Amino acid sequence: MSKLYVIATPIGNLEDISQRALRILKEVDLILCEDTRVTKKLLTRYEISKPTTSYHQHSKLNKNRYILKKLQENKDIALVSDAGTPTISDPGAKLIDYLVKEMAILEIISIPGPSAITAALSISGFSADKFVFFGFPPIKKKRKKFFQEVIDSKYTVVFYESPHRILKTLNELTGIDKQIVVCRELTKKFEITYRGKIKDTIKQLTPLLNGKVKGEFVVVINHD
Ligand code: SAM
Repeated sequence: MSKLYVIATPIGNLEDISQRALRILKEVDLILCEDTRVTKKLLTRYEISKPTTSYHQHSKLNKNRYILKKLQENKDIALVSDAGTPTISDPGAKLIDYLVKEMAILEIISIPGPSAITAALSISGFSADKFVFFGFPPIKKKRKKFFQEVIDSKYTVVFYESPHRILKTLNELTGIDKQIVVCRELTKKFEITYRGKIKDTIKQLTPLLNGKVKGEFVVVINHD
């Protein structure tokens, strides 16, 4: 029976990959990558030489059919994203849904590992017994609703934000009197965590960003 492995990859530090993930990447017939150039860096680091092809948010039905055909030919396939766990604010769910519907027999196997959500939550100090993950704040439409849901949440909140919008987003949350943790560049060379009330983290971040918008961010907000 052919297998589709959904493999988590590092969110920055290339050492953060499991032995099992590396073994499977070496064993499969094909690796589906969000961006083949990004995954090539990981593969090169671990001297893995396997055929790759792209599978991303704009991939069409034809690509799904191609992948289906490969699986029907008994090929084993790995799905990875640029960083972290595939399908978490990343492509993959539609493909999996398609394959489940099209193939009577297919093993879909998770090779778990890093995700920016769990990495940020794990160092937040906030309860992660129950939490809500909101993805990225919408840019225009539904933005107000998004922030209202964040404000009203009874649980710890986690969301992603881009470097271009992190300050704008935090400024829209200054009405909340809750503890917040902003993780920047988790696992990377310039990793830094900002903690405090929202106003404090804005103060810490403003001079550092100083026009130069860089880095990747996860925001975690305590529930009370
Ligand atoms: N699937 C990924 C995962 O499991 O973490 C998330 C993909 S999402 C498209 C990318 C976003 O995740 C970034 O814009 C950022 O908000 C967050 N992120 C990814 N890597 C990060 C890191 N090293 N440090 C902080 N945030 C990160």
